[in-house]
Amino acid sequence: MTDTTDAGRSTGSSAVPDRPRLRMATAWLGGCSGCHMSFLDLDEWLFDLTDRADIVFGPLADIKEFPADVDLTLVEGAVTNTDNLELAKAIRANTRVVVSFGDCAVTGNITALRNGMGAPDAMLERVYVEHPDLAGVLPTEVVPELLPTAQPLHELITVDVYLPGCPPSADRIRTALIALLDAMAAGEPLPRHWRGPEDRTFGN
Ligand code: SF4
Repeated sequence: MTDTTDAGRSTGSSAVPDRPRLRMATAWLGGCSGCHMSFLDLDEWLFDLTDRADIVFGPLADIKEFPADVDLTLVEGAVTNTDNLELAKAIRANTRVVVSFGDCAVTGNITALRNGMGAPDAMLERVYVEHPDLAGVLPTEVVPELLPTAQPLHELITVDVYLPGCPPSADRIRTALIALLDAMAAGEPLPRHWRGPEDRTFGN
């Protein structure tokens, strides 16, 4: 396995041109995008990643529909509205390995704080009408309908691997991706757990 002690720095040993190219996606549900910012912190290792996988969907690619036959998808954020739920189901139907990417996807985390404010209508009223500096108006167009609660991804679809952290560090993301892509390219069982560079065990 490639050395994992130098976050985001290419070691040159993780590019595996003789292995089959995989199709990889990332998705942004009810999250702050911080997990994707951490993904971008992989810096030049992203070039190594593209040596072994094509990025076929995600916030960084202008593709509208989730494609078929995706090998691995990192899913950031809780499922909190109807758009999130529709995309989560499309991801599950078209992805071999779904990764719950970051604490909002794994536990609900920040996104699920709204659950304690009661039903969506009460929360929207409080945020948009009671507390804005200007005259508040409830959003009625364009924005998707909120679900009754924000839920972790595994409560709506089957999740294969959990990658916690708020956000997961670039080191942890890289360690997980190398382990998963190596196993998938070799046709081996997925690693059920491994110890990351921050000495934190994670897995499924
Ligand atoms: S886990 Fe943290 S960084 Fe990731 S989307 Fe949630 S709040 Fe943002």
